[in-house]
Amino acid sequence: MSVPILDTGIKLVKNVGSFGFGAGSLNDLPGYVNSRRTRAVEARGEGKVVYIIDEFFADRPEIIARLGAQTSDRIEFVATREEPKTEAIDQRVADMIAAGFSKPAALVGLGGGITLDTTKAVANLLTNGGVAEQYQGWDLVKRPGVHKIGVPTISGTGAEATRTCVMTNTRIGLKLGMNSDHTVFDHLILDPELTATVPRNQYFYTGMDAYIHCVESTGGSYRNAVGDAYSRETINLCRQVFLADDMMSPESRTRLMVASYLGGCAIATSYVGVVHPFSAGLSVVLGLHHCVANCIVLRAMREFYPAACDEFLAMAERQRVTIPNGVCKGLSDTQFRALYDATVIHEKPLTNALGSNYRAILAYDKVESLFRKM
Ligand code: NAD
Ligand code: ZN
Repeated sequence: MSVPILDTGIKLVKNVGSFGFGAGSLNDLPGYVNSRRTRAVEARGEGKVVYIIDEFFADRPEIIARLGAQTSDRIEFVATREEPKTEAIDQRVADMIAAGFSKPAALVGLGGGITLDTTKAVANLLTNGGVAEQYQGWDLVKRPGVHKIGVPTISGTGAEATRTCVMTNTRIGLKLGMNSDHTVFDHLILDPELTATVPRNQYFYTGMDAYIHCVESTGGSYRNAVGDAYSRETINLCRQVFLADDMMSPESRTRLMVASYLGGCAIATSYVGVVHPFSAGLSVVLGLHHCVANCIVLRAMREFYPAACDEFLAMAERQRVTIPNGVCKGLSDTQFRALYDATVIHEKPLTNALGSNYRAILAYDKVESLFRKM
């Protein structure tokens, strides 16, 4: 991959408005939310809040009780069996409006990437109108969304920090977010105590998303000096976490929460590489979730990322995590064709990694043989 270093061309970067950090910082949520409530009451006489929460917490009354929700607020849960779909987002918005929550004082999203992305999309739709697919793309959201607060409960995707919310549009077979400054959270609560209950395999897969974003970004030819600095520290923290004896000790969970946030800031200024396009193929065609798909892909990408691939395998072994194998076994020619199409369509990251003639490097047979290794 000996391509020249080029500027990403990204000149204006919007960051999260503010954040609170540290074990126990969830306790600061009610105070912050109430300040938004008061403002809304002063401006328009009501200050209702909607809490959008990962379904895992439906059985955790001890967490729900700490949110400070009032009886006039709305609490709704997000199923995580499937990653967000545009139709489901539209339905959620319609239900919220029908229940009298068209202008909440704030939205609070508490959960993993699925829940955070759902919260971001809903916030934009409530103020901009229309349906989710209208805003899939770059800078199509015209007005600021409802004030939104993100509370991640699993670390790695960086969804808490980015300007996008990834959704699949099944009608046209497209996985794309609302890339907009208006999609960025206004406030975050980063409380590493919340990640203690994540299942180990899931913790590893999602955590690896931060590592993989930054390996791809620093391995590419379009670079940004700030992005590089964020990426280097993200990789550094991921090494400390995944090469430690216990990736889920309180110290490791704190480090990974920082890595996730910084990794999100890194991708706001730079591009990913070869792993994410192949991973998107696995998600669109086979329905695999983003983070486990990334791990499956990286294991097969030794020729593109030799050092990262070896390091990743060492991390998985050290943490005794298994990566699914043989996911493309027995697929039909039509399915391999669909995988190829869903991969090579990602021009920007593939050009970043391989140069503008990436389609010559990733010829059909080559792509199929890589998928067969997964
Ligand atoms: P997730 O939302 O997919 O959740 C994974 C699983 O972990 C779910 O079963 C969930 O219920 C569970 N879980 C979450 N927190 C838990 C906790 N504290 N204890 C126990 N279980 C818990 O998680 P993810 O991997 O963070 O998110 C993946 C999603 O993020 C995908 O939809 C992907 O497209 C998206 N994503 C978004 C961005 C972005 O910039 N917006 C970037 C990368 C990925
Ligand atoms: Zn990712």
